[in-house]
Amino acid sequence: MRVSASDKIPGVVTRFAPSPTGYLHIGGARTALFNYLFARHHGGKYLVRIEDTDRKRSTPQAIEAIHDGLEWLGLLGDDKPTYQFERAARHVEVANALLESGNAYRCYLTSEELQARREKAQAEKRPFRINSEWRDRTPGAEQDGQPFVVRLKTPSEGETVIEDAVQGRVAVKNEEIDDFILLRSDGTPTYMLAVVVDDHDMGVTHVIRGDDHLNNAFRQLPLIRAMGWPEPTYAHVPLIHGADGAKLSKRHGALGVDAYRDEMGLLPEALFNYLLRLGWGHGDAEIISREEATEWFDLAGVGKSPARFDTKKLLNLNGHYIREADDARLVELVAPKLMLDDEAGRALLLKAMPELKARAQDLNQLAESAHFLFVTRPLTMSEKAASLLDDEARPLLARAYAALAAAERWDLESVDAAIRTVAEEAEVKLGKLAQPLRAALTGSNTSPGIFDVLVLLGRDEALARIADQSGAKE
Ligand code: GLU
Repeated sequence: MRVSASDKIPGVVTRFAPSPTGYLHIGGARTALFNYLFARHHGGKYLVRIEDTDRKRSTPQAIEAIHDGLEWLGLLGDDKPTYQFERAARHVEVANALLESGNAYRCYLTSEELQARREKAQAEKRPFRINSEWRDRTPGAEQDGQPFVVRLKTPSEGETVIEDAVQGRVAVKNEEIDDFILLRSDGTPTYMLAVVVDDHDMGVTHVIRGDDHLNNAFRQLPLIRAMGWPEPTYAHVPLIHGADGAKLSKRHGALGVDAYRDEMGLLPEALFNYLLRLGWGHGDAEIISREEATEWFDLAGVGKSPARFDTKKLLNLNGHYIREADDARLVELVAPKLMLDDEAGRALLLKAMPELKARAQDLNQLAESAHFLFVTRPLTMSEKAASLLDDEARPLLARAYAALAAAERWDLESVDAAIRTVAEEAEVKLGKLAQPLRAALTGSNTSPGIFDVLVLLGRDEALARIADQSGAKE
């Protein structure tokens, strides 16, 4: 289905607004992706805002990890990121404007008073509401110099309705929405205020974020209305769940994006594709390029129920993208894992890549499968490989050695012919010979095709490795 030019919304601005209190997690990366694609689809702008107002928990390391993760996925913002903390003066300015217009008030309730009211509500088993008398009371002389917070006067009757682009119509009774704090008693702005002011000043038209923020939207909207600002379209995306159906957490092995890259050995395009399909669909398309994603992405395709994270599916997809990837690029990615820094080694790896990448699901596996090319004799055998080299296998290997040593040329065709002849003459199935041969040549029971292994190693090295295990003379 092609999207016609007419369904493009003009002037779209989206933003990804992570709090830099930890790594860029997988849910955050997906939020960034959806914001990016929505903006790209409509020819709009995609921005990044670092919500670093929590000074105790925000760290430069986290900011760097978020930047690196976004860069790796190709999801950096169109402009330099906005740092929320730097904008504190502007947030205060808006709070003051709300005080002046009568949409906010100074509340002198002390924390002791609030605590007593909270306890009373608890004892009476009714929900606690702030209901500050200062909403309608004018401070007198005795309030001079007393600490206060600034609260928004939220509507107390009726309901607030959000037509969410993902969740549909959601309504909350206004009596359930407290007069929340805009400025704390030390004069610092709250997160709720900062988000609204920043979204407005950045011209954000579509707020696409995790549905754990849906409650916040019911506070943010009255604030937007009190300022008379344009209301954004909200799209609250269900959170990602683990295979067991519970919200994805560290317990499920949910990692930072850097770990998906380094420890899991993923390609960014694989994670991009996987995250896209996690909670969004376009017919039954599974393999979706960046271009197709940009063309197809819409909020209508975002599912209402949480998607489950499936590592197996992710790795399958990664295997697909490894097979598609350019060989030279894979060499660059795998060489450091093999601590390969010489040109000859890289050249050999490049030569082997078409065979190696056919069977790897991640870059670590790919590196592991290339390991045999670079080990020195005598090879250390894995347990499985050692068990293949039994008394039955050794004489077969000796015959293979002789046949290979006699081969006139050393190419796929000749080594194939030599090995098949040995198997036929010994009256064994090819596998009976190929398995111990693989063990002798690679030290492992898995490898690319055995003829490829022979050719990649070259005549001298291959023969020497066979001799090491067969007792045949070099
Ligand atoms: N900083 C918030 C978070 O990391 C997101 C706020 C928002 O998107 O409005 O969860």
